[in-house]
Amino acid sequence: MGVRSCILLRPPLHDPAPMAPFDANTLALVTAVVNGFMALVWLVMVRSFRIAPAAGRLLSAAYFLFIPSLLCLPCQRWWPIAFGLWPQSLCSLAGFALMSLGVRRLMRLRQRWGDVAFITGAAAVLMLNGAAAGPSLPPLVLATALLSLLCARDIWSGGRALQPAWLTALLTLPFLLTGLLLLARTASLWWLPGAEGFLMQGSANKATLAWLYLLMTLMIALGLVSIVVMRLIARIHYMTLRDPLTDALNRRAFSAELQTLQAQVERGQTHSLVMLDVDHFKRINDRLGHAAGDAALLHLVAVLQANMRELDRLGRLGGEEFCLLLPHTALDDASRVAQRMCEALRKQSLQWQGAPLDLTASFGVVACQPGDPQGDSTLALADWLVYRAKSAGRDRICVADPDLALGRMVTPA
Ligand code: GH3
Ligand code: MG
Ligand code: MG
Repeated sequence: MGVRSCILLRPPLHDPAPMAPFDANTLALVTAVVNGFMALVWLVMVRSFRIAPAAGRLLSAAYFLFIPSLLCLPCQRWWPIAFGLWPQSLCSLAGFALMSLGVRRLMRLRQRWGDVAFITGAAAVLMLNGAAAGPSLPPLVLATALLSLLCARDIWSGGRALQPAWLTALLTLPFLLTGLLLLARTASLWWLPGAEGFLMQGSANKATLAWLYLLMTLMIALGLVSIVVMRLIARIHYMTLRDPLTDALNRRAFSAELQTLQAQVERGQTHSLVMLDVDHFKRINDRLGHAAGDAALLHLVAVLQANMRELDRLGRLGGEEFCLLLPHTALDDASRVAQRMCEALRKQSLQWQGAPLDLTASFGVVACQPGDPQGDSTLALADWLVYRAKSAGRDRICVADPDLALGRMVTPA
């Protein structure tokens, strides 16, 4: 025998006592602690950070409700047995119902609660059948299986629009697995009563079930927290691209969009750009206050958006200066869009504190030119055209004319 195998086979100097595997009671206690921790995590997220408040409250309550059924095993010596298993069974059922509603809120789906109420109510009635001997188990397990599958469906349908499909599938998985496992357990409870007896026989089988339960609890907790984290990341990403007052693209995001279009112009595509600046905006601020100025900007954006297509992009370049990207639009069409906007703005005055507040703007319209990867020249030309429209009397559009050194002025109708 070589030296190596001698070392491998040599008994340890201090033979440690074989480690006792976790028993079902310890695992139930650990699961209860995990549930308590998650209840607190959701509570802190709601109370301290106002993260997903409606969903968070429901999920926190659900986690608290799961605890009694987990504690009754390890603490049976002190557990009040006056009501048999009723309190913890009903708590579990209510917990799963609240979790389903919480998940639905978290995924921002329409708040229907009829299906959850029906499953929970039916299970409670069926459980009453075994009232004398304590609540009947199969309806409880079936209800929790169905509620888990509802959660899986809601995460799948609510997450598809937001995330890549594989990520949504990953988040759906814990609920789907839990639902399927609980369905299998329901089937065994109803049709194979012997199997349940086998599962509940012997500490090893009970411990396996407890491990499974702990694993599902951890997977679900991780899945739910991941959904919130991803929502937050998406929100922060969105905020880095948007102007906080008007929700238009900010300058950085607008430049990125413009560069994308300029790259397409190099490949022969036709895109146009409309720049506009509100006329005498300072007067609104000075006469009516900053709040009126802000309301005027929101009104302006609403009017512009009402005259935009889905694929057009609106950016706020600064102050009361906005820019519109019109993909696949020739100069003449862009000019018509600008005219429509100019007229709409003039005709639709804003109601401010019961009085009409008239708002006009000066527009510059230009076609994106090749050889300008950053779009700086296009923007500079549009800016110059706006300046010309202002000089010519405001409330009008000035269109870049490739043949004329000066822009072509379109006076108000
Ligand atoms: P012109 O017709 O020549 O464009 O005149 P104007 O008064 O519109 O232009 P000016 O650049 O002199 O004034 C712009 C004003 O816009 C000054 C600034 O205080 C105001 N402003 C910039 N951003 C905001 C904002 O977010 N809210 C409000 N209420 N005012 C803003
Ligand atoms: Mg202005
Ligand atoms: Mg300005």
